[in-house]
Amino acid sequence: MATTGRPLGSGRLGGFGTTIFTEMSALATRTGAINLGQGFPDTDGPAEIIEAAVAALRAGRNQYPPGPGIPELRRAIADHQRRFHGIELDPDGEVLVTTGATEAIAAALLALCEPGDEVVTFEPYYDSYAACIAMAGATRRLVTLRPPDYAVDPDALAAAFSPRTRAVLLNTPHNPTGKVFTRAELELIAQHARERDVIAITDEVYEHLTFDGREHVPLATLPGMAERTVTISSSGKTFSLTGWKIGWATGPRALVAAVQTAKQFLTYVSGAPFQPAIAHALGLPDAYFESFRAGLEAKRDRLCAGLEAAGLEVFRPAGTYFVTTDIRPLGEDDGHAFCLALPERAGVVAVPTVVFYDDKAVGRPLVRFTFCKRDEVIDEAASRLAGLRG
Ligand code: PMP
Ligand code: GLN
Repeated sequence: MATTGRPLGSGRLGGFGTTIFTEMSALATRTGAINLGQGFPDTDGPAEIIEAAVAALRAGRNQYPPGPGIPELRRAIADHQRRFHGIELDPDGEVLVTTGATEAIAAALLALCEPGDEVVTFEPYYDSYAACIAMAGATRRLVTLRPPDYAVDPDALAAAFSPRTRAVLLNTPHNPTGKVFTRAELELIAQHARERDVIAITDEVYEHLTFDGREHVPLATLPGMAERTVTISSSGKTFSLTGWKIGWATGPRALVAAVQTAKQFLTYVSGAPFQPAIAHALGLPDAYFESFRAGLEAKRDRLCAGLEAAGLEVFRPAGTYFVTTDIRPLGEDDGHAFCLALPERAGVVAVPTVVFYDDKAVGRPLVRFTFCKRDEVIDEAASRLAGLRG
């Protein structure tokens, strides 16, 4: 193949290869194992949302929608941010519909970072963060979160900022740890951002999945943060429709305009017939959001009990779809090798958390399982994993 002499795969995306989610879901398909790796529910979201999409398809909403998203969805997103978080937004200019949170994150980083800039984020990190920071030509500066509580070390946080810091990229509730950043931790992050005049980009796709009465605090609601924060979320998790890829970015006009500039050259527009359906979804009564949360909290308890019974050390998550475990009580310490062997040993697929850490020593013994599956699937996985002890 002609490559003008430059080795392929050695540039900005060198080392990124295939995502762990693709790799592990392929492993599940190949082996027929239960897939507790990639975080997608095995039951679809509410029928009325799906019917709204069908109606939109039939009503001819099949051509390019407006660049920033259809007005009714932008209004619904603004209403959702007011209703759940007390955030006031102008749907015309402060709300942008994207192709999932993934595109919003990519567009925000590409629009706001220049080569040489640094982005402060936390490890373990969602894999697209590292790739998108690299695509923007920027550098990641990591603050390491460690089990059991994944607390933010204030000194490590301070040390991650430098005169080159352009942005802080925060995910709460946090994948893969299930950590929900506390208000005190967020105040600290906000203080650095304000003092150093840094932009914040927040990924809040699990905003409706906090457990045991914990609150989700959007960084944009802290003093002095609304004007410097791009808040990102998505319909995928909240409505159990991960394949639809309708997400959004909200924030001050200038930041949203910058993100939109990048977005229009990435995908131009997003999923026409799904937009009216998600507009409908965002207006569902509180009871929907409450029962969604309670349902996942019960599944968390169910899987955690099963993993504990299987002999793993379980770090009970405060939110999200995921629980991390330490495999060392089983006499093993290589999470990657463990996950590659697990389909054969136990008929279950999980994700090695080490791939989300630059500090491989911290991540090495950690393994992530998802509990966004039917109860009988969780129970079957737990009973298979119980065999690991012997
Ligand atoms: N951020 C985090 C933390 C995630 O776990 C995911 C996966 N849902 C995404 C972003 C991507 O969201 P979307 O599917 O809406 O692109
Ligand atoms: N967010 C999901 C997870 O963390 C998967 C999304 C993806 O495959 N990119 O498992």
